[in-house]
Parts: sequence; structure tokens; C-alpha cells
Amino acid sequence: MNTTPLELENIYDLAYKALSTNGCDHFNADSVATTVSHAERDGSVSHGLFRIPGYVASLKSKKVNGISRPTNTYLTQNAIRVEGDYGFAPVGIKVGLPELIKMTNKHGVGVLTISNTHHFAALWHETEALAENNLVGIACTAYKPSVAPAGAKKPLFGTNPISFAWPRKNNTPVVYDMATSTMAMGEVQVAARDGHKVPFGTGLNKDGEKTDNPSEIANGGVLLTFGDYKGSAIAMMIELLAAGLVGDLFSFEAKEEDNNDGGPARGGEFIMALSPELIAGKNWNEHAEKFFEQMTSLEGVRLPGQRRHTNRKDKGPRQINSALIEKIKSLI
Ligand code: NDP
Repeated sequence: MNTTPLELENIYDLAYKALSTNGCDHFNADSVATTVSHAERDGSVSHGLFRIPGYVASLKSKKVNGISRPTNTYLTQNAIRVEGDYGFAPVGIKVGLPELIKMTNKHGVGVLTISNTHHFAALWHETEALAENNLVGIACTAYKPSVAPAGAKKPLFGTNPISFAWPRKNNTPVVYDMATSTMAMGEVQVAARDGHKVPFGTGLNKDGEKTDNPSEIANGGVLLTFGDYKGSAIAMMIELLAAGLVGDLFSFEAKEEDNNDGGPARGGEFIMALSPELIAGKNWNEHAEKFFEQMTSLEGVRLPGQRRHTNRKDKGPRQINSALIEKIKSLI
């Protein structure tokens, strides 16, 4: 794969120009370009510039509103609904998160539901933002079916990611962010593009047989959940939280509605914040640090989020797939 070095600000500019040329106003283009450039900065490459052609396709087809103005409504003292105005998720998150933080600092627990949004990004952006405000963050979203429930050979679940972030007073948060499929479909697509195999059993081919060929999974095949029926139960929970509880589309409903333009389908996102200060009390940070000390003293252990946070320290250029850069430039 040929790569081209791009400084972080050039990554932002490239994303911003592609979005603004194709129908986003400043507020929308800036929200998404920031998310994309942060993903590249942290090495979340499947959710960085790789996603721009899809974002642009959904602007061009008018599925996504590039001039969205999401709004907050208080459902209860502990729950806010953001009406996403059919925009991209980073815009709704930008509108809802400050209010969620305020509410959780007051009541200890807060729920933010985002509806009528199009999620095409990693979820650590939102959970980590909560942890940076000394709150525990949990987020999940559903997507179009590409994952078979345990026992099945046909898809019903999306790759349904879930993220959890734990705040640390004198350190970067501990954050996990994972698809409940064996791999995220974005990673499978990147592997197919770059000609790499994936672990055997990542998914089934169109005949329902296990395969290590990412192209067979991405084209007519199906992904499996991690951990057999246990991962399947978590994927089901995510459908129920991000669609049932938010009051938005289940993955199968998103598929029925979507125009398959290559961009993100419409759906909901569930975000929850918890205040350890109010719930556990003053000593919460020291107590959790003892646990992290125990955990990291075990040989071979690293904390989730650490890879990204180490990448982040590098302020230099990132190596970007040259063909992808050309593709994005052709959209501007
Ligand atoms: P990975 O399997 O790469 O990583 C999952 C998590 O495990 C990360 O938090 C990672 O931390 C952590 N981790 C990895 N290796 C270790 C290790 N050895 N020890 C401890 N922790 C480890 O992620 P996925 O491929 O499952 O998902 C990739 C992204 O795709 C996610 O950001 C997800 O939100 C996104 N996604 C988005 C969708 C959408 O609809 N918007 C749909 C599906 C996925 P670290 O980052 O530090 O490596």
C-alpha cells in the first residue's frame, strides 16, 4: 500500500473541504472533520479519512442533512433526548454532551438519547469526553444487519459497538470501544482493500461456511459476534438500548429504510453518564487506581485505550493511503 504523510491539520482540512464542498455548513463540517482527524491522530484508521467517501455519498444522495441543527429536550431530570435533525452523529453529540455532563454532575446519573442521527464514527470520542469531565461514560449504537445472532447464518444485528470510559484524575481515562462482532465491518473492509486475511471464523461466506477471506464476508457473507452466545446477548442488548429505548430504528428497520448510498444509515445512539464522585464518594479515584495497579502489575496486561493515547502523543504526520487521498480530493 502506498502512503502519503499528512499533518493532522491537513487531515482536518481535507475532511472539512470534502464535507463543506458537498453540502455541510461550518457547524456540521467542523464537528465531523474534528472526529475524523482525531480518529487518524489516535490510529483509529477505520473511522478516519476512510469514512469520508461514505459521508460525502450520503450528503450527495440527500439522505443526511449537512446543515442539521440538533436540539435538546429534557425527558426527565435525568434524561435528555437530542433530536438529531437527520445530521451526522458528531453534531448531535456536540449539542447533547454538555447538557448530559451538567445533568449528571447534579443528579449522579444521566441518560442522553440521540435520535434521527447517522453514526459512522468510533464511539470513544463521546465516552472519553465524559471521562475527561470525571464521569463514567457508556455509549452504544446499532447499525444495518451484518452479524448473525448465535446459531443463525443470516444477519440480524449490526456490528453494534459499545464503549465504556472510566475517568482517572491524573491520567488518561481507561476506555474500551469495540464492535460486538468479531471485527468491525470497517476493519474487514480495510483488510479486503489491503489484501490481508482475517482470523478464521471472523464470519461466514455466502454459503454459511466459516472463512478468513474479508471480501467474502463483506460481499454477501455475514459476520459473527465475539464470544458466541455471550457476545450475541450483548449485541441484542445494544439493539434494545439504541433502538428500543431510544425509540429509533432497530438494525433490520434501518436496512429497510436505507438507500444504500455507502454512507451511514439512520438510527439512534444511547449514551449514559455516571458520577463516581456522587455515587462512590470522594475516594473513588484512589480506590480505582489500586485496582489498576493490581491489573497492570500482571505480566502481559495493558489497559484499553492505551494504544490510542500513546499514538496521540505523536504530533507528527500520519501515513495515509495515497489512493484514499486522491479519492477524497476528487470529491472536492
Ligand atoms: P478493537 O478490537 O480494535 O479494539 C477493541 C477495544 O479493545 C479497544 O478499546 C482497544 O483499545 C482494546 N484492546 C485491544 N487490544 C487490547 C489488549 N491487548 N489489551 C487490552 N485492550 C485491548 O476494536 P473493534 O475492531 O471492535 O472496533 C473498532 C471501532 O469501530 C470502534 O471504535 C467502534 O466504535 C467502531 N465501530 C463503529 C460503528 C458505528 O456504527 N459507528 C460500528 C462498529 C464499530 P485500544 O484502542 O487502546 O487498542
